[in-house]
Amino acid sequence: MRRKLVAGNWKMNGSTSSIRELLQGILGGSAEVAAVELAVFPPFVYLDAVARQLTGTAVGWGAQNLSEHASGAHTGEVAGPMLKDLGCVYVIVGHSERRTLYGESDQVVARKFAAARKFGLKPILCVGETLEERDQGVTEAVVERQLKAVLDLEGVASFADAVIAYEPVWAIGTGRTATPQQAQDVHAFIRAQLAALDPALASQVRILYGGSVKGANAGELLVMPDIDGGLVGGASLDPKDFLLIAKAGC
Ligand code: PEP
Repeated sequence: MRRKLVAGNWKMNGSTSSIRELLQGILGGSAEVAAVELAVFPPFVYLDAVARQLTGTAVGWGAQNLSEHASGAHTGEVAGPMLKDLGCVYVIVGHSERRTLYGESDQVVARKFAAARKFGLKPILCVGETLEERDQGVTEAVVERQLKAVLDLEGVASFADAVIAYEPVWAIGTGRTATPQQAQDVHAFIRAQLAALDPALASQVRILYGGSVKGANAGELLVMPDIDGGLVGGASLDPKDFLLIAKAGC
């Protein structure tokens, strides 16, 4: 049985006071959604404050990105051991905004996935196609290529400690959500890719859906058999909506 995970990607949003309030709101309702695992992903600079507020609670935290390197002359980068030091459980790798706006290739993403594991963090590997790719009918080929880069470097067993997030790029921050069936089809395809290599492991890997998930549409998505939770951007900045999404997964 895969426990659902609802992960809030705050992106480049928040301030000391707004984050304190947001966490208070989430903590206030977290007991009612205890069946679902919750985690938040603040900007790096707020990780320490978030860790202080969440330590001892049921809500976990992680980072939105990490360096593929362990330490050294990489100005502006943040390394896995630093995230581990701040109590991060997860780290998002290969978010489409990193791939498209910051030029992260499949190979860079694979190396970040490897770095996360090496330093004891669970990677949340984001995969997904652009609208153009969907219209060209190459969604599965794109997702397969993105997964293969990680499988080639780290092997299928590495997914025992990882989460996958299917995030169609055309649904992120656009208000346009994949239909539950569109999402389920790609989730089943991803699971089948892993199952071809290790069926038992594939049945345990959590595959989250991301792309304009909100309280109003979470129920129909999270009920699908291969959707094991959500990676939530915009709606994760509103504690009520974030908790409603979690409730849909209970
Ligand atoms: C995301 O940032 O991963 C995301 C899915 O954003 P949104 O929910 O705003 O579409």
